[in-house]
Amino acid sequence: MSLSEIKSRIAAAEAAANRATGSVELIAVSKVQPNERVEAVLEEGHRVFGENRVQEAAGKWPEFRERFQGVDLHLIGPLQTNKARQAMELVNAIHSVDRPKLATTLARLAQELGQCPDLFIQVNTGEEEQKAGILPADADGFIQDCRDLDLPVKGLMCIPPVDEEASLHFALLAKLADRNGLAGLSMGMSGDFEGAIALGATHVRVGSAIFGDRTYSA
Ligand SMILES: *Cc1c(COP(=O)(O)O)cnc(C)c1O
Repeated sequence: MSLSEIKSRIAAAEAAANRATGSVELIAVSKVQPNERVEAVLEEGHRVFGENRVQEAAGKWPEFRERFQGVDLHLIGPLQTNKARQAMELVNAIHSVDRPKLATTLARLAQELGQCPDLFIQVNTGEEEQKAGILPADADGFIQDCRDLDLPVKGLMCIPPVDEEASLHFALLAKLADRNGLAGLSMGMSGDFEGAIALGATHVRVGSAIFGDRTYSA
């Protein structure tokens, strides 16, 4: 598939949900992709990208940014506190705020740096043992704690369990965001972004449908 195809599918999903054209931000997830593929998407004029590792993002984006103006970079993967400073200096948004220790670290660094990326709180909607994210029952309290720390919380993010109906998780995330007065909803990937848009996604994170399959080297 191609970037333009994904964009037209997003536009169609926006229209079907009676939502304004352009109300959904497409984050092109470039993790692990060869530089030529990322470059091709930059050449097409796209500027919003997602990476799931700080190290990898730091390795390729400074150079791309020198050549392409206006890149908007989103960290969508787990963030260790010892990488928080580097992440904050590199990315425009972090979608994986998932625990109190990370929140307090981000707040301290925000003071020190005088800036903070837009933040999304990751919710473990499927309550999966191995998955990051705050549990749904703890979400309201954690959102309040982040606000008390003056963190710029823009929305919530989730990654539904692979073997479950994603829409149930999207609906739960939308409900949690709504009752906390949060406008941002980071949900929907290659296989389910249209369903996520129907349920209110403001940011979809699409990788393989744009770039092709990821081939991980051992
Ligand atoms: C890799 C990744 C995506 C993109 O997945 P695709 O299925 O390739 O679209 C989205 N969100 C997160 C958190 C990811 O790690």
